[in-house]
Amino acid sequence: MHPDIQEILVSEKAIIARCEELGKKITKDYEGKKPILVALLKGSVPFMAELMKYIDLDLEIDFMDVSSYDGTESVGDVRINKDLSNSVQDDDIILVEDIVDTGRTLKRVIEFLYQKGAKSVKVVSLLDKPDRRVVKIDADYVGFKVPNEFVVGFGLDYNQRYRNLPYVGILKRECY
Ligand code: 5GP
Repeated sequence: MHPDIQEILVSEKAIIARCEELGKKITKDYEGKKPILVALLKGSVPFMAELMKYIDLDLEIDFMDVSSYDGTESVGDVRINKDLSNSVQDDDIILVEDIVDTGRTLKRVIEFLYQKGAKSVKVVSLLDKPDRRVVKIDADYVGFKVPNEFVVGFGLDYNQRYRNLPYVGILKRECY
């Protein structure tokens, strides 16, 4: 285990097994459709890469990069740093998130995708921190619920570090 990690919350093995379950469920739910998986950079990349192996559909992938206006918790709006590469007009979108915390990012990005003409937007998130929700919104597919702790790994960072850890763990308090 990395020395900056206090405790592993979700092991690599558990993440892979859950991705397989979620992938199979999405395959069933979207039978006959050609969804576009849209991952939010950068935290959702490892999760999308693992999840899509288990989605047996004729799908496409795309990426968006969004951030809070100034990065503080009190600011509720988000800025689009990188837009989609292709049109999503009349498409079924599966938005891939690393973690749903306050829910603000999710709400704004879903609105944005509908403005772009998406037919439907559903959300799959690796992690969910329900205790922190400010906006009444939930992911349609959730990997794991986590407590109100700052977590890193499997894509999630602290100052761009720890994204490459193969598990999700709680960062030691002295590290931030
Ligand atoms: P929301 O808009 O739901 O508050 O924010 C979601 C975003 O906040 C996530 O995509 C993620 O980038 C960041 N975030 C929220 N909680 C955590 C956490 O525990 N660890 C890390 N590394 N990022 C988090």
